Amino acid sequence: MHKYVIMGAQGCGKGTQAKLLKQVFEMVHISVGDIFRWHIQSHTKLGARIKRLIADGRMIDDEIVEQIIRERLAQHDWNYGFILDGFPRTLTQAAFFLESYDIDAVIHIDVPDEVVFERVLARRLCSQCGLDYNLIHHRPATPDTCDVCGGKLVIRSDDNKEGLQQRLRDYRTQTEPVLQLFAKKELVIQTDGARDIDAIQQDIRSQLGLRKV
Ligand code: ZN
Repeated sequence: MHKYVIMGAQGCGKGTQAKLLKQVFEMVHISVGDIFRWHIQSHTKLGARIKRLIADGRMIDDEIVEQIIRERLAQHDWNYGFILDGFPRTLTQAAFFLESYDIDAVIHIDVPDEVVFERVLARRLCSQCGLDYNLIHHRPATPDTCDVCGGKLVIRSDDNKEGLQQRLRDYRTQTEPVLQLFAKKELVIQTDGARDIDAIQQDIRSQLGLRKV
């Protein structure tokens, strides 16, 4: 069984890398962001609270995040392991996690701020079908128009420069200490996230000693 945490600033590509790992090694990809979105879309009580916090530009409280992680891991559908994405984000969350669970490694995808800005500000979303686009890697055939449904492409409401700057500040002040804590426990492997997707994936697999089964 493989139990990993994947970390990195927004736009570092950790979701993509987690999905590639999970396809081959049958681990469960647990994305805290996806769970938040599910709650918002399903109009749960928790979803309403999360939505308010995001609208105020605040981080989600540690208790909410811990509850989500506890419930998700209690489902025990991870016979081959899991990759946690978007957790832990603060030292409090990390302390909670290390008390209750153990992990094999933390994958840190390192990207400089300039790359984060370039990637995140190039993201677009179809206003009709929700498909993701990126003006660097996945351009639509007709500018501002969805290839699939013809809908208008828009910028996500939190993908503006100010919002991104705030999230990067939160990451540096709240999440980097978590990385340092994991590094002290010699759990961290580091990979350069400014390269292409395949190169990063190969590097992660070789550092973790993972081989295709
Ligand atoms: Zn569309």
